[in-house]
Amino acid sequence: SIPLGYFGGIGLASKNGILFKGSNFLDVMTKIDTIVMDKTGTLTKGVFNVQKVVTGSFDKQELIRLTAGLESKSTHPIALAISQYAGNQTEGLKIENVEEVAGMGLKGKVEGKTVLAGNAGLLKKYNITYDPVAEQEEDTIVMVAVEGQYAGYFTIADEIKEDAGATIKALHELDIKTVMLSGDKQSVVDRVAKLLGMDQAFGGLLPEGKVEKVEGLKAKERRIAFVGDGVNDAPVVALADAGIAMGGLGSDATIETADIVIQNDQPMKIVTAIKIGKLTRSVVW
Ligand code: ADP
Ligand code: MG
Repeated sequence: SIPLGYFGGIGLASKNGILFKGSNFLDVMTKIDTIVMDKTGTLTKGVFNVQKVVTGSFDKQELIRLTAGLESKSTHPIALAISQYAGNQTEGLKIENVEEVAGMGLKGKVEGKTVLAGNAGLLKKYNITYDPVAEQEEDTIVMVAVEGQYAGYFTIADEIKEDAGATIKALHELDIKTVMLSGDKQSVVDRVAKLLGMDQAFGGLLPEGKVEKVEGLKAKERRIAFVGDGVNDAPVVALADAGIAMGGLGSDATIETADIVIQNDQPMKIVTAIKIGKLTRSVVW
């Protein structure tokens, strides 16, 4: 028979906005020694704001219009920031063939012009040389190329969630190592990880790069929970001993693959999930 304690644990978790997809994961959570987390939308609010737009000879207003046109087809937090910044300037634009380049950005046609918007990796992928000044920016950058030519960049900033620092501290008190994996550039990743006091942080990762890092940790016999929110996080969520989706901004694919779903945006719920697991265990045994 199934011990009553597990039903109690699942019920208690659900009252706390944590959905366990099986009672075994209550137990798995008590054995986790490493928590691997995505940055954007998990540790940070995922609500970006454009700080500035930098162009050379390319017309700034035109750059904003074309980029926002392209980004209007995406729901990525960065895309929302640029769309909001442009306001109604994209009304009536002809936008076609927009595709996501995983972990890098977007490609598509706006007003008949081929537009690329994303990180340095995206421009490198298309062999487009860009102004190296862009890479010295501290914030997240979105570089833009129009018709195969570098046209300028946006700087974008996100805010760390209120309870992110306390969460990392609480995890360390439970003797759990904390690792951040992100597609964002290393300088941004380092800044956030340092502020939060995390043990390790890796940036510039494509979805398969995140998978490799988690595979590397598994090969070292680490018991891993991965916490993520984005479409690109589904493969690592599946690979971890416990895959956790943050529900607030989470993508359907990630929520479907996850073993545990946190229904709001608070990272502290990870600590709650572990504590409920431990409590349940003490009742069951
Ligand atoms: P994270 O791991 O930080 O959640 P993602 O995997 O979602 O990041 O994206 C990785 C990187 O790709 C982002 O930091 C950004 O530089 C770039 N990127 C992704 N989507 C877009 C977009 N719609 N517009 C511009 N850049 C994007
Ligand atoms: Mg993400």
